[in-house]
Amino acid sequence: MSIEKEINSIREKFSEDLGRVVTSKDLEELKVRYLGKKGSVSALMISLKDAEDAQKPILGKSINLLKNEIALAIHELMEKINSAELDQKLQKEKIDVTLPGKRRRLGRLHPVSQMLYKVVDVLIDMGFSVQLGPDVDSDFYNFEALNFPKDHPARDMQDTFYITHDLLLRTQTSNVQVRVMEKNPLPIRMVAPGRCFRNETVSARSHIFFHQIEGIYIDKNVTFADLLATLDELWRRLFEKEIKTRYRPSYFPFVEPGIEADILCTQCHGGGCRLCKFSGWLEVIGAGMIHPEVLKAGGIDPEQYQGYAFGLGIERLTLLRYGISDIRRFTENDNRFLAQF
Ligand SMILES: [Zn+2]
Repeated sequence: MSIEKEINSIREKFSEDLGRVVTSKDLEELKVRYLGKKGSVSALMISLKDAEDAQKPILGKSINLLKNEIALAIHELMEKINSAELDQKLQKEKIDVTLPGKRRRLGRLHPVSQMLYKVVDVLIDMGFSVQLGPDVDSDFYNFEALNFPKDHPARDMQDTFYITHDLLLRTQTSNVQVRVMEKNPLPIRMVAPGRCFRNETVSARSHIFFHQIEGIYIDKNVTFADLLATLDELWRRLFEKEIKTRYRPSYFPFVEPGIEADILCTQCHGGGCRLCKFSGWLEVIGAGMIHPEVLKAGGIDPEQYQGYAFGLGIERLTLLRYGISDIRRFTENDNRFLAQF
């Protein structure tokens, strides 16, 4: 066959083949078959060397023309196919923007944290600053500096987790008291919130770990009346109403005199219920005037300065506030319970 005839034959064949193309993959294959290195058009170019010299430029031109026709046809069809395939893909992967979204539930603070922050906020408003102490502390700061000498029977009131002979998990936030006295200029008016640990049997009313807030105020001429006024104001702000209180003498080694404060039962208002064990009163705080020995341990002259201290159990306060009967509920991580606060 002459080259000229072959050009026409390829042109016709290509036209037929092009009509059968469906997908972009078919078209890629077609392109290789005609325009690739081993394709029909390249073969034509190679066969040109056998043509007569006078014919070569004319035939060469014809072959190039064919090549351009094929390339253009493939390019045009490629655009059509791509656009159709994209439409199909978009149709298949269509997102229905009118479908309702997935609701993400908001997290919230644990009820004990809520109460802790609330008490701290109230005390900050009343002029106290916040200081933190270590959970793991020495026997000195947790006991000895607070007037619990070694072998003192009052140590038995607080079953302690010892880590070494001298290191322990603090049993009370009072461990912050002497640390603060050592580091800060007078007067001192601070609260120390934190976690405490005691080696007790876990029951509805006690747990091996719990939270306290310690408060101290040391200045010249601080009196017992200042302590009572501060506590009364604390209840008023915390419960957002007038709360009836009563104060009873009590014993803690680091205060003298020491008291415990009761508030009128928030459930039965004094009538007697399970929450208050039918006494009509709820014990909420231990407090007192800081013992002179504790001031001395903190490097403060008790002849010149006096102070008061109070310690508040946050779990207990939360139980009372919401009328919850079992302290273990706070650590069970039951979302149905926690979501109520
Ligand atoms: Zn009651």
